[in-house]
Amino acid sequence: MLDPADWERLRALGHHAVDDAIAFWQGLEAAPAWTPMPDAVRARLQSSLDDPPTDAEANYALYREAMQPYHSGNVSPRFFGWVQGSGTPTGALAAFLAAVMNPNVGGRDHAAVEVERAVIRWSARAFGFPDDASGLLVTGTSVANLIAVLVARQRALGAAVRETGVDQSTAPLTGYASTATHGCVARAFEVAGLGRAALREIPVDDADRIDVAALDAALAADRAVGARPFLIVGNVGTVGTGAIDPLPALADLARREGLWFHIDGAFGALAALAPELKPLVAGIERADSLAFDFHKWMHVPYDAGMILIRDAALHRATFASEEAYLKRRERGLAAGMPWLTDFGLELSRGFRALPVWFTLREFGAVGIGAAIAENVALARRFGGWIADDPDFELVAPVTLNVICFRYRRPDLTPAAYDAFTDDVVVALQESGAGVISGTTVRGVRALRVCIVNQRATDAGMRALLETLRSLAAASP
Ligand SMILES: *Cc1c(COP(=O)(O)O)cnc(C)c1O
Repeated sequence: MLDPADWERLRALGHHAVDDAIAFWQGLEAAPAWTPMPDAVRARLQSSLDDPPTDAEANYALYREAMQPYHSGNVSPRFFGWVQGSGTPTGALAAFLAAVMNPNVGGRDHAAVEVERAVIRWSARAFGFPDDASGLLVTGTSVANLIAVLVARQRALGAAVRETGVDQSTAPLTGYASTATHGCVARAFEVAGLGRAALREIPVDDADRIDVAALDAALAADRAVGARPFLIVGNVGTVGTGAIDPLPALADLARREGLWFHIDGAFGALAALAPELKPLVAGIERADSLAFDFHKWMHVPYDAGMILIRDAALHRATFASEEAYLKRRERGLAAGMPWLTDFGLELSRGFRALPVWFTLREFGAVGIGAAIAENVALARRFGGWIADDPDFELVAPVTLNVICFRYRRPDLTPAAYDAFTDDVVVALQESGAGVISGTTVRGVRALRVCIVNQRATDAGMRALLETLRSLAAASP
């Protein structure tokens, strides 16, 4: 048996761990945003098969000393690199509670399945999908996008594709997305057997939105050579600049052409929860499928993303297998149809829904929307500071929460400027004062501040800007 011999010792360790966790969260403001890991610390984490058993207290001590201080930065109030959520304390507690129950949520009749169904229903309503839309919690938008491509493929080729696979040698299926689309969409095409060349990259305008006229032309050109367009992918919040594609125009085009309309709304979709931002994502409710993450702008602890599909029957037909039905029952623990495994790739699935459920119940759509709106307002203020600052310049409009900007160094050649910008980004990270990332916007190397941070403050953003200024000024 692997349960503890001494439950009181476990109780003490558990209480101690909760107290330390609260101190960790309370100390984040004063702590470095990121701390590089010394080699000696890395070495302490290695284990050998021959190691004698180590008690949980000693393992916990190692966690406190050699792991927790070397977190990936996103919990910090001064983290603005990449699109990553901050997490929440109750989300962390819920992750623990999910593991206490330890259900396998692939199917059968138990509470965790009902909680996931509640989360799916909540999501459908949040984005204006019908109540009978289907959905599934997955690791993140990468997998959600893959599921959407597979369902769209099934619609285009019929159920036979599951038997025969895909033949792209004649009348190939072709999909369409802007050049600003996340790389996981092309990877979904690879994994779905279509090949990444089948995803046509459509140019964008000055604000990184797909050029609908160019898309229309690409569709016509492909049809003229016998290809079979089947899918348009729209973006709500591109990873580079937070751009939102013209959704109503894409929805109209998809309908006219008989194509599946999928939206990658990894972080941006949740802007629909903020009344002042909702108009920006108008048209999201017309998608055939929507991928988004709870671990980004809803700050649910990693990992939790969702795929929503308007046509539940098609979704199920894409993944369900007949022989599995034989094991299902009308009553007893093996009931609970339809099983969630029938909507995706995995049979064994964790209780991902619980941290999501705790988060959406605790804050509600209103509270989550307000936190998102506050990030966007902060991004716009930050954009305003940059626009008014003689040392800096914006290189892309601020649509949502991403600010791409440059430190003015007209004396540097383009290559030297790129190296200079990358150095400033790394110097900031290594200083512990904050985390931002570098990016390239229309061929120009830039600093990128991405605010997906429920702990961000005006004062912190001001301080970040001043640190960037002094690091840039000190750089040769
Ligand atoms: C983060 C992101 C993804 C990938 O999502 P994961 O949750 O990391 O799998 C896809 N698209 C966009 C726009 C993203 O921001």
